Amino acid sequence: MTQPVRVRFAPSPTGFPHVGNIRTAMFNWLLARHTGGKLILRIEDTDVARKVEGAVEAIMDGLRWLGLDWDEGPDVGGDYGPYYQSERLELYKAAAERLVEQGDAYYCYCSSERLTEMRAGQVKLKQPPGYDRLCRELTGDECARREAEGIRPVVRFKTPLEGQTPYDDVIWGNVVVENRTLDDFVLLKSDGYPTYHLANVVDDHAMEISHVIRAEEWISSTPRHLLLYKALGFEPPLYVHHPMILGPDRAKLSKRHGAVSILDYRDMGYLPQTMFNFLSLIGWSLDDKTELMTRQELVDNFSLERIGKTGAIFNREKLDWMNGVYIRNLTPDEFFAAVQPYLMTDLDAGKAVIAEEEYVRAILPLVQERAKTLLEVIELTRFFLVDQLDYDAGLLIGKNMDAAATAKALKAAQDKLTPLSSFDPDSLEAVLRPLAAELGLKAGQLFSVLRVAVTGRTAAPPLFATMAVLGKERCMKRIEVALKML
Ligand code: GLU
Repeated sequence: MTQPVRVRFAPSPTGFPHVGNIRTAMFNWLLARHTGGKLILRIEDTDVARKVEGAVEAIMDGLRWLGLDWDEGPDVGGDYGPYYQSERLELYKAAAERLVEQGDAYYCYCSSERLTEMRAGQVKLKQPPGYDRLCRELTGDECARREAEGIRPVVRFKTPLEGQTPYDDVIWGNVVVENRTLDDFVLLKSDGYPTYHLANVVDDHAMEISHVIRAEEWISSTPRHLLLYKALGFEPPLYVHHPMILGPDRAKLSKRHGAVSILDYRDMGYLPQTMFNFLSLIGWSLDDKTELMTRQELVDNFSLERIGKTGAIFNREKLDWMNGVYIRNLTPDEFFAAVQPYLMTDLDAGKAVIAEEEYVRAILPLVQERAKTLLEVIELTRFFLVDQLDYDAGLLIGKNMDAAATAKALKAAQDKLTPLSSFDPDSLEAVLRPLAAELGLKAGQLFSVLRVAVTGRTAAPPLFATMAVLGKERCMKRIEVALKML
């Protein structure tokens, strides 16, 4: 694969950007970048009833967040525009009319009531669904009479009643479909809007698309598209139908499995580089073992041949693991920059970022090793940033200790810490470790009491490093409060 391709991502703006669609965009993007070709973003907005306000922006946001840029599209323009199908209606109408003139399509005047009745009949008789071709052989006069009655027709394709439509799918190999299994599908609706089939074919041809890379769910549309290419005298593109993303139960990944919008993953604090790497490996692999790959490595190594045939599972544990790896690999500056927008969504954390950036920067290395998501960073650093800890006094009581012993230990720690002039981890350890022995306690007993007193939690980053970052003033204040609680 060395020839530069022209590929497209052609979303319908009918909702949020599903990770499955975004992965389709990614496969297209990877092939375009691998071959030095072009990625076209085309908005398939001809289904007026299903159009959702804001969906195009959400799709673009998702693509941009992952760094999936496009060479032609609604916002950047290009030689093959416009890139909204709703702005290309004349082209589809002309194609439909040409097909009617050629005898490859016809006007159908059947009312929706009639079609509903027909479908019900087919269900009852257990017949395959599909238009019964009532209008297929109408004469010009019969059409004119219906026009005169004011009936607005649809245009249907005159699917050949015999023969086969074979094609070579890059992933599925030779696929053969019997034409008699296809019905006379609609090309142009009565409101003048095209169906997906017509618009898709007209545009892929007009935009000189070389490879159609799309999810397996569209494979049943492909014979219809090929029949249209043939009737219009166009050269069809190469087809690549990749498997779908599945949930753990092997059903198509959907909302009931959890978050499915790429923007939800952004909001939950996954890094774009994690998401890029993770999605690229759902259904594609380099060698069945390499997991961590940079964007450039993926571009260099991407090939259609290594897209698998079977659906691949969206493994959330793997995503969390991978995000942890990517988070750990960030430099302190990168980590601060990545985490900052998430901190700003929290009142206390946001205030601290603005007023005490150095303090926040000192906190972050303590949680970088442990955080699986950027959102988790807020949760892990919260105790550093609040004025007052909120915890149950019972939490303070050390293992095999009572309230009196706990208070005694804490008071002793307070006495040792008060005169300390340097509050770095080593100095803290130098006074606190011997103190445990003096009190006849295990180090762990004393440290856990202190940990709760200064963090309000039983689990926190290493105690001395945490206390050092909190600083003497905060620590002493918190120990005082804990003593009062006891
Ligand atoms: N508009 C279709 C979609 O929403 C495009 C399918 C195709 O790539 O042909 O996915």
